[in-house]
Amino acid sequence: MEFKPFEKKVWLSSPTMHGEEIQFVTAAYQTNWMSTVGENINEAERLTCEKVGCKYAVALSCGTAALHLATKLAGVKEGDKVFCTDMTFDATVNPVMYEKATPIFIDTEYDTWNMDPHALEKAFEMYPDVKVVVIANLYGTPGKMDEISAICEKHGAIIIEDAAESLGATYKGRQTGTFGTYNAISFNGNKIITGSSGGMLLTDSLEAANKARKWSTQSREDAPWYQHEEVGYNYRMSNVIAGVVRGQYPYLDEHIAQKKAIYMRYKEGFKDLPVTMNPYDENVAEPNFWLSCLLINEEAMCKQVRSDNEACYVKEKGKSCPTEILETLAKYNAEGRPIWKPMHMQPLYRMNPFITVEGNGRGRTNAYIAGKGIDVGADIFARGLCLPSDNKMTVEEQDKIIEIVKSCFA
Ligand SMILES: *Cc1c(COP(=O)(O)O)cnc(C)c1O
Repeated sequence: MEFKPFEKKVWLSSPTMHGEEIQFVTAAYQTNWMSTVGENINEAERLTCEKVGCKYAVALSCGTAALHLATKLAGVKEGDKVFCTDMTFDATVNPVMYEKATPIFIDTEYDTWNMDPHALEKAFEMYPDVKVVVIANLYGTPGKMDEISAICEKHGAIIIEDAAESLGATYKGRQTGTFGTYNAISFNGNKIITGSSGGMLLTDSLEAANKARKWSTQSREDAPWYQHEEVGYNYRMSNVIAGVVRGQYPYLDEHIAQKKAIYMRYKEGFKDLPVTMNPYDENVAEPNFWLSCLLINEEAMCKQVRSDNEACYVKEKGKSCPTEILETLAKYNAEGRPIWKPMHMQPLYRMNPFITVEGNGRGRTNAYIAGKGIDVGADIFARGLCLPSDNKMTVEEQDKIIEIVKSCFA
C-alpha cells in the first residue's frame, strides 16, 4: 500500500494553547511583573497543590531543577549510592550526578515499564546502606507504588518521585507526584500541559519547601544585604512562564482524555498485529496516557542492529522492528521515537552497577532474552517505540498512522 505523506507534520507530543494562557502572560506584561515573583507563580503553585493534593509546590525553571533540589533535600552527597529507575530520560538521573553521587540502576518490569520491585529488593540486599530511591513513572503510567513504597519503608530509604511525565495520573486514586517525600513535575514543551518550560518541586514538608524556595533564589539569608551561608541556584520559575502554566491547568483533564482516546484507538487498531501497547494495571492505575507506545512480539521482530548512534535492520515478510516503523513514520512526515534507552546501556554510565532479577522476564532468565538483550530494559528498548501521540492529531490522521504501521508488518 502507498500513502501520501502528511502535509502537516504529525507530532509525537506538541504544546496545545487554549487562549487563557496569553491573558495571564499579558497581565504580567502590562503590570510589569516580568520577574520571578508575581501572581501567576502563586496561582500556578496553588493550582498544582489543588490538583495533585500535595501541601506545597515550589515553582522552578524546569523539572530537572526540581529533581536537583529534591536530591539535595534528600541529603544526597558526594560518594553516596542512589537507586535509580533505569529505563527513563537522563534528566531523572542527572541531578544525582550533579551531587557527585553514584546512580545504581534498577531494572524494569514488563507490567508497567517502571522500576521492578524485585530488582529493588535485591539491590537493598546488595547495598543495604542506600537511603534514597529515585523512581520515574514512564510515559504517564504509575509504577508499582505499593510494592516500592513498602520496600523503601522497610529499608528506611526515602523516595524521590519523578512525575515529570505523569502529571494527572493516579494510582489507587492518589495522584502521582505524592508518593515521594520529594517529588518533581515538569512543564516542558512536550509534556501533558506546558509552560514552554518550567517545573515544580512537590512536598508535604513546609521546611523542605522553604529550603527549596531559598536555594532556588540564590540562597539569600534574612539580612539587610546579600548574606550567604550556603550555595544557591537561580532556579525560580518566571512569572511569564507561570502565566502559561496557570492558563493550561483547566485543560489538563481534557488533554488526558484526548491522550487516552488516542491510546485506545491505537489499541483497537493494532489488535490483529503481533504487538502490545505500553501496559498498565487498570485495577490500580489510571495513567495520563502521555505517550502511546508499541511493543513488538518477539516472534514478529525482524533482524535489527543498533550501534551507539546508528541502526539498521533486515526486512522480513510479516515482521518488523522499531527502526523500520520509525523510519517509515518519518517518511510520511509523522514523528515517533525510540523508547528511552536504558541508563545502564549509556556510555556515560558504563561503570555503574545495574541490578536485574533472574526470572523476572515472565519465566525467562535474565541471561538471554530472545537474542535482543540480557535484561528487561534492553528488551523493551529493542522491541518498543513511541507512536505519534499528539492530542491535536485527528481521527483520520491516526487511522493513517495505524495503516502505516500495519504496512510495516506486510
Ligand atoms: C521531561 C522529563 C524530565 C525533565 O523535565 P524538564 O522540565 O525538561 O527539566 C525529567 N524526567 C523525565 C522522566 C522527563 O520526561
